[in-house]
Amino acid sequence: MLKALLIDPSRFQRSVMASVFARRNVAVTLADSAAAGLQMLADGGFDIVCFSHELGDMRGTDFFREAKRRNLFGFCPALMLSASPDKRFFDEAIALGITECFPKTDLLGLEQYVEQWESRANRRLSGRVLLVEDSDTAANFCSEVMHGLGLQVVRFKTAEEAIASLEREDYKVVLTDFVLEGLQTGLSVIRAVRAQPGRKRELPILALSAIDSVARRVDILRAGANDFVTKPVVAEELAARLGNLLVLRELFDQLEVQHELVKEMALRDRLTSLHNRHHLVAEMPALMAEAAAKGTPLTLVVVDIDHFKKINDGYGHSRGDEVLVAVADILRGACRGRQLLVRYGGEEFVLVLPGTVPIQAALAVERLRERIEAAKPGDIPVTASFGMATLHPGETFDQLFTRADAAVYEAKRGGRNQVVSA
Ligand code: GH3
Ligand code: MG
Ligand code: MG
Ligand code: MG
Repeated sequence: MLKALLIDPSRFQRSVMASVFARRNVAVTLADSAAAGLQMLADGGFDIVCFSHELGDMRGTDFFREAKRRNLFGFCPALMLSASPDKRFFDEAIALGITECFPKTDLLGLEQYVEQWESRANRRLSGRVLLVEDSDTAANFCSEVMHGLGLQVVRFKTAEEAIASLEREDYKVVLTDFVLEGLQTGLSVIRAVRAQPGRKRELPILALSAIDSVARRVDILRAGANDFVTKPVVAEELAARLGNLLVLRELFDQLEVQHELVKEMALRDRLTSLHNRHHLVAEMPALMAEAAAKGTPLTLVVVDIDHFKKINDGYGHSRGDEVLVAVADILRGACRGRQLLVRYGGEEFVLVLPGTVPIQAALAVERLRERIEAAKPGDIPVTASFGMATLHPGETFDQLFTRADAAVYEAKRGGRNQVVSA
């Protein structure tokens, strides 16, 4: 549980502050003077400190100076509240090193800060880190920090071993030092990640770099690292940068999942859950190219339900919907392997049969016609007309479709409930 130290001489003010932290499940310790606060800080164990500028025995800024001089804060945020908020005064406080200042009269800012701080501080990460670090001391230190965050660590001392492992295993993030054992440096690791196939090349990379070399850091970032931590590594900084990288990665992943979902929804018909015409248009070029390359036949069939308007008119639109679903199910039940079936429009379906010789295709389609006629979904007599066309060499999709569509028209003219080949 996170711990906060709250310092204010007024009991009322302390309880107001305490309620802000308690609401986020932070354990609070209260002090009523700067002296008491300094004593408690010296005893240690706090994750955040919140104090007023009006402390009675000291001004808040002086309290902060004194605590900092005695090195009591470490990396825990220091928040100051003031009864007389004033831009210049707050700027001076920030320049001193105070993390944030808030007016006592408006605690919304403090509430928002505490809310974000708490959710970040309690954030648990998961997944495996590829750690490339030749120094045992540095590796142990970084590993300990990352274990603390909930991450698993797999460590190598050379770029060569790390790259080999990267190709075999899945990692969530890479943390690499610059100078390594072996011939290659961390730059090789970074470049190897960025040269991976597929999504692996987008792995977040955090580089470790020596504190005194700006040029090296630029090299590292240019090679494709997302961020770096200077050595010697500070635990809080490593945790914060790793956390940010992983959260960003997660957001991108979510975005990608949603994008796939939206794409799938755009390509699928809700009523029959068949793909729609956009899917057909997207898939046909590959099927046609393959048929052309292999010299195999490709047949396109347009299926149009007969007098569907009369079904709607006679039985109602929702019974009409049920007929559409029933016909879709019959067609789907006959689809095998790479055959493609879409709901092309209202009561029109398109079936694509790759690799089936025309005579066999015609027999299969005739069986479908019979099955639809025999089905009588919801006791409604239903028939459909079929137009088929087999791809001619050099023909475009539009030309092929137009021929199949003309064949359906022939089938309708010929009395419906029949199969016509173009
Ligand atoms: P034909 O035998 O010449 O094909 O006659 P038809 O009545 O089947 O053809 P037409 O194109 O005149 O009518 C198709 C009807 O399909 C018109 C439209 O209201 C209906 N329709 C289109 N989409 C849906 C749907 O999703 N549900 C229902 N219930 N009806 C639909
Ligand atoms: Mg090294
Ligand atoms: Mg129609
Ligand atoms: Mg029709």
